[in-house]
Amino acid sequence: MPTIVTHALAGATLVGLACRKPLSEPGVLPWLALCGAAAMLPDLDVVTFKLGIPYASPWGHRGFSHSLAAAALLAALLAWLARPIWRRAGLSAAMATVLLFLSVASHAALDMICDASFGPALFMPWSDHRYLSDWKPIEGAPLGLKRWFGPKGWRVVDTEFLYVWLPCAALWLGRGWWLRRAA
Ligand SMILES: [Zn+2]
Repeated sequence: MPTIVTHALAGATLVGLACRKPLSEPGVLPWLALCGAAAMLPDLDVVTFKLGIPYASPWGHRGFSHSLAAAALLAALLAWLARPIWRRAGLSAAMATVLLFLSVASHAALDMICDASFGPALFMPWSDHRYLSDWKPIEGAPLGLKRWFGPKGWRVVDTEFLYVWLPCAALWLGRGWWLRRAA
């Protein structure tokens, strides 16, 4: 998996592109922060390792928690819980739910291009199939802290920077330029 900070950045960027308001406007930053946090949620399933559920199980890491159905459930729950946040950002309930869904689903999309043993089970509970792209440029982040201090950790930082942070930075710059032009 990419690191959760990278997932948050990708989710917030995706939603940021759909938002035409400057970041300085009231309500925009908390809304983007919520979407970033939402994009991290599927990886709470690492607790399944502690519970003894195997990685390969549909209920293990990257199983149901990374499915589109789980993304829809989480989006609906978050949209309900965080009503003041999206209302302050001037969104409708439907739009907030759709954007939250896209944030959470961006997590699985990113995991699919990550070099790992098992991809997300996108269509759980209807299918256990794990989806991994043939193009997997992002190094899988190690779970243990020790392995971060070595070549593996460096490859994670390097590939996430190259394939997520740089494109996201370019998109934010493009967004800023477009908003200034539109104003
Ligand atoms: Zn994940």
